[in-house]
Amino acid sequence: MYDVVISGAGPAGSKCAEIIAKAGYKVALIERDSNWRKPCGGAVSSRIFKYYPQLRKLDYTPIFGMTIYSADYHQLRYSWKNIRDYSINVDRLSFDNFIRDVAVDTGAEFFDKNISFDYIRKNNKRVGIKTKTSSGTEEYYGKLIVIADGMSSKLAIKSGLREKWNINEIGVGKCAILEGENSLDKENMSMFFKPYKGYAWIFPLDDKRFNIGCGTWPEENLNYNINYLYSKFIKDPFLKKFFPQTNYKTIWEAAYPVPAVGVKENCLYEDNLMIVGDAAGFVSPISGEGIHPSVVSGNAAAETAINALENENISKETLKYYKFNPNIKKIIRNFKMKTSMINFFFENGGKFLSNMLELAEKNDNFRDQVINMFLFNQIPSKDYFLKIKTYK
Ligand SMILES: Cc1cc2nc3c(=O)[nH]c(=O)nc-3n(C[C@H](O)[C@H](O)[C@H](O)COP(=O)(O)OP(=O)(O)OC[C@H]3O[C@@H](n4cnc5c(N)ncnc54)[C@H](O)[C@@H]3O)c2cc1C
Repeated sequence: MYDVVISGAGPAGSKCAEIIAKAGYKVALIERDSNWRKPCGGAVSSRIFKYYPQLRKLDYTPIFGMTIYSADYHQLRYSWKNIRDYSINVDRLSFDNFIRDVAVDTGAEFFDKNISFDYIRKNNKRVGIKTKTSSGTEEYYGKLIVIADGMSSKLAIKSGLREKWNINEIGVGKCAILEGENSLDKENMSMFFKPYKGYAWIFPLDDKRFNIGCGTWPEENLNYNINYLYSKFIKDPFLKKFFPQTNYKTIWEAAYPVPAVGVKENCLYEDNLMIVGDAAGFVSPISGEGIHPSVVSGNAAAETAINALENENISKETLKYYKFNPNIKKIIRNFKMKTSMINFFFENGGKFLSNMLELAEKNDNFRDQVINMFLFNQIPSKDYFLKIKTYK
């Protein structure tokens, strides 16, 4: 019998397992396949170092800046060197296994090649998780259950807390790790907003490798084919200056959906159960950033679980503190602000976003406001939006 059984060892599940195990509780961390590379751009903000200081010792190229492009290639380049810590771009295969190892090192028991598919129920109560393995079915009993198995979680739906994602609640992305000579600035990431509701990116990984991809937000999923958008982007003549060669080696490529409407705040907890990470919508609605929010949610759920176990009360009355954790409240608030802005920026085929970057090119004060909004989550003034709307 475990104190906590966690389904899914991505950023949310691994952080949750680590913190609970560190507090001395018995944790089972269940993973479908540790050889799976989560489809992802892999850009991680420097805020991750607070949760994983160990990452500083790894050989990641420090990222000190970002260039944002509008659909018609107005651009804003920003460097945070000397202002804040550097960010990193990670390959999710090694990154996920690294943070799993951190959880195991603190005492969590890791069960790989286990596909969670249902709850074990006794007297109408959930008392654990059933998994499928190559040799049959396994059962993991636990006082508390944490659902951390991502966007496609079956257990989140079976919990009764939320329904299947509606097509209007998800975005779709396709990305690849490519390798070859290039003239990318290795310390800078690029985001290309598009005339459709979505964006593309190039995130350098090292001297030769980079993550490249694109995604659509809700409404456009049915209007555009993601494979078409991806091949159009990688052949974009504007990118020729970065990629002089004709052939780049594809190390890996994949497409995957992503939650796009912010945190499902009414679906986060139940008696003896919490949902964390993508499974609960912890992804930023404009940038698609989900690694850091998922880690934060895993951490908050872990703190809540420890408190519940200490007090021997695992009812929803105790678990509600997960939702009221200040960091979770901050994420929910921030994502709501971004959701309300997303329509504005993509209106008129990306015209407002283009106006915004053109205004930033001309006026330093306005440029600061754009940076504060994109990178430091500050809510812009009404005047800011009015300027963008009436510019052209
Ligand atoms: C195309 C794309 C690009 C993205 N780019 C970025 C980016 O650049 N930066 C960023 O911060 N975020 C990005 N995101 C979002 C980010 O990938 C997610 O928000 C983040 O991975 C969520 O972490 P998680 O732990 O909740 O879920 P996941 O990372 O999905 O982890 C879930 C884990 O559960 C396992 N699992 C699944 N089902 C089962 C099961 N039945 N039983 C057991 N285990 C199971 C999986 O194998 C996986 O290891 C991107 C997403 C997409 C789709």
